[in-house]
Order: sequence, then C-alpha cells, then structure tokens
Amino acid sequence: MATTICGWCGVTTHMAIVTDVIDVPRQGSSYTYVYMAAFRCSNERCARLSVGRTYRDKPYGMTKEMREDKNIQWEPAQIRRPDFPDVPPQIGATASEAHACLSIGAHRGAVALARAVVEATAKHNGITGGNIVGKIDRMHQDGLIREITREVAHEIRHGGNEVAHGDLADEPMPPEDAEAIVEFMDAILQEVFQGPARMRDLQQRRLERKQRNAE
Ligand SMILES: [Zn+2]
Repeated sequence: MATTICGWCGVTTHMAIVTDVIDVPRQGSSYTYVYMAAFRCSNERCARLSVGRTYRDKPYGMTKEMREDKNIQWEPAQIRRPDFPDVPPQIGATASEAHACLSIGAHRGAVALARAVVEATAKHNGITGGNIVGKIDRMHQDGLIREITREVAHEIRHGGNEVAHGDLADEPMPPEDAEAIVEFMDAILQEVFQGPARMRDLQQRRLERKQRNAE
C-alpha cells in the first residue's frame, strides 16, 4: 500500500491498488514508460479512486513494485487552499491561489500571484507607484511591517529570483525559491492584517468584560 494525502478527502491514508498496472510507452521524453493504476482510499468515509502514476526508464515489476513505489504522483493531487480570514477577500483569495499553484508545482504561477498579493496589500494601505521593493520599504516606513521583514525582502531579491523581478518567463524557478517567496507573502499578510486583527479582537473582548463587570 502506498501512503499519501488523498486528493479527495485530504486525509493521510493508505491507497490500496485495485487495478492492474498499465504501462504506457511515452515518446520524446527522458522517461520511456509511464506506469499507471487505480488505487482506493482506505478512509471509509471517502473510499474514492485516485490514479497513481510513476515514470521509469526501464520495465518495472508491475503491481508489487507499484505498491512499494515511493515516488507515485497522484490524480487528483492534494491541492492546498488555505483560508486567510482576516485578509480583505480579494487579496485572501489570491493568496490562497498562490498556495494552490505551489502545491501542484506551478512555481511561476505561485510567484506571480504572491507578488500580486504583496502589491495589493501595499495598495490597500494607500501605497501606490514605484516597484514592489519600494512599496515594501514604504510599508516598513509606515509601520506596517517589521525591519526584519523588509530585510528578508531584500535578501530574496539578492538571491536572484527576486520578489521584484518582472521577467518571470525568463527566469529559472527552483521550488525552494517559489516556496520562499510564498512564505514571505504569508509573513506580510500576517503582519499587515492577521496580527493586528487578533489584537483588535483581544482588545474588544477586554472591553466587553470591563463593561460587564461595571454593570
Ligand atoms: Zn480519501
């Protein structure tokens, strides 16, 4: 059995192979064969089928090897779409899509959306014009983000795959760079929207308690 996060139910589950393994010769690529089989989710509430596939350059021992294969890719894939409840809805939805892109390996898409989220966050706070790094500096000047966050923005930039770069289609985009930029986006949202919302909430509850005690 293969263990994975089921793309249907989101639970970490064992996938039991339920069909024969089919090998599909693939031309014009570095891999010669694609092996595919249907698997069933062992979560009883789900029990749906997913298709597992793996790529090999030489023939494969079929069912037993497929069952033990650690590199199976799954369809449907588990797609992450986290919620950003204290973030303005359009910005939060875009941030959620950046994570969805990352979870399917669409790294340039993830980075393009993460940049758009940072730009929109600046705009939401009245900062317009100039490039994204200038906007991040302004967000720091206006007390919206901490010094360390501003420094990290500059470091990501100097690392090559900039937060600011405009020529996405021209850049190599290793997964770790895309992950770093999406993580940076999360940190900006945390500092600008989510952290302050939590503090306002705490303040509100204290106020209500004070009023109740005064009654
Ligand atoms: Zn499932």
